[in-house]
Amino acid sequence: MANIRPAVITKILPDSIAAEVGFEVGDAIVSINGTRPRDLIDYQFLCADEILKIEVLDATGKIHHVEIEKDCDRDLGLEFETAVFDNLIQCNNHCPFCFIDQQPPGKRSSLYLKDDDYRLSFLYGSYLTLTNLPEREWQRIDKMRLSPLYVSVHATEPEVRIRLLKNPRAGQILQQLQWFQKKRLQIHAQVVVCPGINDGEHLERTLRDLASFHTGKVPAVASVAVVPVGLTKFRPQQDELIPVTPEKATETIAQVRSLQQEFRRKFHTTFAWLADEWFLIAGEELPPEEEYEDYPQIDNGVGSIRLFLKKFSQAAAELLPPKLKSPRKWHWIVGNAVEKAFQPILERLNSVAGLQVEMHALNSHYWGQNITVTGLLTGHDLLLNLQGQNLDNGILLPSIMLKHGESVFLDDISVEELARKLKTQIFVVAGVEELIKTCIQPLG
Ligand code: SF4
Repeated sequence: MANIRPAVITKILPDSIAAEVGFEVGDAIVSINGTRPRDLIDYQFLCADEILKIEVLDATGKIHHVEIEKDCDRDLGLEFETAVFDNLIQCNNHCPFCFIDQQPPGKRSSLYLKDDDYRLSFLYGSYLTLTNLPEREWQRIDKMRLSPLYVSVHATEPEVRIRLLKNPRAGQILQQLQWFQKKRLQIHAQVVVCPGINDGEHLERTLRDLASFHTGKVPAVASVAVVPVGLTKFRPQQDELIPVTPEKATETIAQVRSLQQEFRRKFHTTFAWLADEWFLIAGEELPPEEEYEDYPQIDNGVGSIRLFLKKFSQAAAELLPPKLKSPRKWHWIVGNAVEKAFQPILERLNSVAGLQVEMHALNSHYWGQNITVTGLLTGHDLLLNLQGQNLDNGILLPSIMLKHGESVFLDDISVEELARKLKTQIFVVAGVEELIKTCIQPLG
């Protein structure tokens, strides 16, 4: 197939087959057993063979041929620059709530790239709309059993979905769900609620339509996340969008909760979950932990606060000592949306003698939001709030504020630049264990 580029290696895992064979960072895989992989999915499929004949392009442009014999389930231990080695499938919609269009102008072009690629959905759980797939890609999804995929449904009524995605091809979602059902493939769905467009009766219709696909041993629609639309000050003028108010959040919570009761009776699962943000906007208590079952929509902010609190108390019981040998003080940055919910964590950390943690619950001036979730805070927001302050032993920075796999905020400011400007150390913490271990680490 045209446009397939060699897959450039960025990491070789220690003690792996690739390390043993002598692969180097910068080498690129051209083909495996005569086939050029289009993406990581092809690569993983091809590597399932026991004998691999690999064509490798080194950094100087020289081709090498490597033969490897291995167990079929053993991974080579390579990581690549990208997951897709041909062209990324790009979005052909014009959703008024698109976060990419709600960014400030003048940033580097990659920040404005709108992907809508089923391969990233399968590999990483990113949401896609199914409006841009030619027949051969549908066939590949079926042939390679690429399931589950994560689909932005938003509305099942054709005219409402067309209005939201601003794309006439968006009206085929019910037929597409029938296709998944027929092929015994699954999706997880999301509905971004835009007040005045797909809320109220449209939301009810959408959730009932989606529930009609939650049947059989392999339900075509496995779960739904209901998410409030997020708006920034850079949104286009006359975008016909209305922000979600606390009243709207309260109303939507009540509406979805009543449907959840029906779904639980019928399917023995909640099936459609409300993102944590609804409760934060409404100022309501989050649902209890057991309501989230096995957290099928955790990456969409459904239950992430409850899970974080639960994991924290488990890890704290195991890792937090009663006192520290030498005292220290940290500054922990979170979005102001979670300020109240995270108080138990703050209290538990500060109960350790010698450990002081000050929470900075910020909103985002950068995006123009009064209430902000942690993942949307930017370097600009931290500078604005913390510059000139005594930041003691340093900052505890949740990794969800950074772009995936990079040490750069959404506004392109790097962690290093921020640390320099704030004249302090910044510790990026991913998850509860790292948060606790960083708090109690020996001081350098
Ligand atoms: S489908 Fe996603 S990327 Fe495309 S316009 Fe809509 S929100 Fe933006």
